[in-house]
Amino acid sequence: MKKEGKRKNQQKERTSDMKKKKLEEITRELLKEIGYDCRREELKRTPERVASMLEEIFSNNKKDLKKIVNVYKTNTTDEVILIKNIPFFSFCAHHLLPFLGKIHIAYIPHEGIITGFSNFITIVKVITRRLQLQESLTDEIADTIVNILKPEGVMVIVEARHLCIEMRGEKPSTTEVLTSTARGTMKNENIKSQVMLQLKK
Ligand SMILES: [Zn+2]
Repeated sequence: MKKEGKRKNQQKERTSDMKKKKLEEITRELLKEIGYDCRREELKRTPERVASMLEEIFSNNKKDLKKIVNVYKTNTTDEVILIKNIPFFSFCAHHLLPFLGKIHIAYIPHEGIITGFSNFITIVKVITRRLQLQESLTDEIADTIVNILKPEGVMVIVEARHLCIEMRGEKPSTTEVLTSTARGTMKNENIKSQVMLQLKK
């Protein structure tokens, strides 16, 4: 059994080494195509750095959040819980450039079922470290919270700057894109505007 385990580990290491080598090769090719020679001093280790960076950034994005986020019961009823200004960065699925900003999550627990604030940061971190579009990211966070907490309602608001908008085109611009989505009782216009008011404070 032990030998079997060792062999599996070795195999895993080999696959990961091969994957990293492949990423390095692709980066070298990409740089070559846009006119850069990786033999240049400052570029010598760039393919290796990019490969490690990509592995690091995208390594945790398949984590099963249902297994990580633990919930517990409290006496909270009908109360809107708002977690404001969770910082994030993600990658635009259309251009592979970062978009970044902050995320606000408001929810009304069902029968007092809640989770720690840090778990919302974990949810944001895992979901944003994927290739995303801002709209689908907003929905995905809301659906994940519905799935894990089964709340009465949830609202997710994402404010972001997109480097693919800002870096391209004639004039540099700092457009901010705002997306929001609501589920359950949070769809109520009154509750929604209460949350928006809280956010402006
Ligand atoms: Zn884009």
